[in-house]
Amino acid sequence: MDFAGFLGNPGVKAAVQDAFSSGRFPHTLILQGDPGTGRRTLAGVIARALVCQKRDKAPCGICPACIRAQAGSHPDIRVLEGKGPGGNLTVDMVKEIQEDAQRMPDEADYSIYILCLGDHTLEAPQNKLLKLIEEPPGSAVFLLVCRSAQTLLPTIRSRAQVLTLLPLGEEEAARWVQAQKGIEEAAARQLALLCGGNLGRMLGELESGAQRQAMEVARAMIRGMTVRGGHQLLRAAAPLQKDRALFGEVLRRLGMIFRDACALRWGGKTLLGGAPEEADLLGDLPQRQLLSLPEVAEKYRQGLERNGNTTLLVACLCADLRAAAGR
Ligand SMILES: [Zn+2]
Repeated sequence: MDFAGFLGNPGVKAAVQDAFSSGRFPHTLILQGDPGTGRRTLAGVIARALVCQKRDKAPCGICPACIRAQAGSHPDIRVLEGKGPGGNLTVDMVKEIQEDAQRMPDEADYSIYILCLGDHTLEAPQNKLLKLIEEPPGSAVFLLVCRSAQTLLPTIRSRAQVLTLLPLGEEEAARWVQAQKGIEEAAARQLALLCGGNLGRMLGELESGAQRQAMEVARAMIRGMTVRGGHQLLRAAAPLQKDRALFGEVLRRLGMIFRDACALRWGGKTLLGGAPEEADLLGDLPQRQLLSLPEVAEKYRQGLERNGNTTLLVACLCADLRAAAGR
């Protein structure tokens, strides 16, 4: 099997490989571990391997079944998320699976159900699930994703193979995030240490860091727009020249803050951009100029999507913003 995308956890990989090679894949697997340890990634790899048309290096990633599975449109793979704030399994969900599992798979040898469970699944849906996995339809494979198998009935646990996913070692996690995200070695190590090697948490931290940076740049640009001379605006926008993702996020934020500024002018109270002070700063602009600002942000968002040269886009954006601000 090819576990590309699912890192570490050699024992788990060996167990899945054994089950796969034996030709009799277990009807029920419980993938337990903290969020961020790769539970859904592994469930996806298993599901794709089971529908792949090439047995020897499944999932091959290139056969029609793999391509459809990757796109989330394979008819024999279903992903069900628990409902409500706790994301817990409900009786209705189990009923739905029960009915669906009676039919033969459309294309593959298996019908795969990935069930993402919350931490507090009630007993009624669990009992119903138990009935289903006690006498599973021949081709069904249930992959139960949860934080801990201890939250499930012992009778469910005893009918399933339980796989425990662990975070990576900090060294390995740091190397991976450094290679994937192109961040400095020291920062990668610090991040791995902070998150205990949990890749999902590391990516989440990076994401929220990027969001914070985008917000800071957008706010600095608006402050730069409202002072005379273009230097402050250009300086604030400089990081966008080298970072397309950041540029896109900043334009999205600017668009929201500009719309907030328009809303404020016409007595609106609900602001969505998260920067009310900057939206307020733009309130002095003449009406026509104020109204043109959201369009400016949108124009450059589209330019960026069409792969425009970022250095040129930043220069033109700053010129347009200054013109709109009358500075
Ligand atoms: Zn394939």
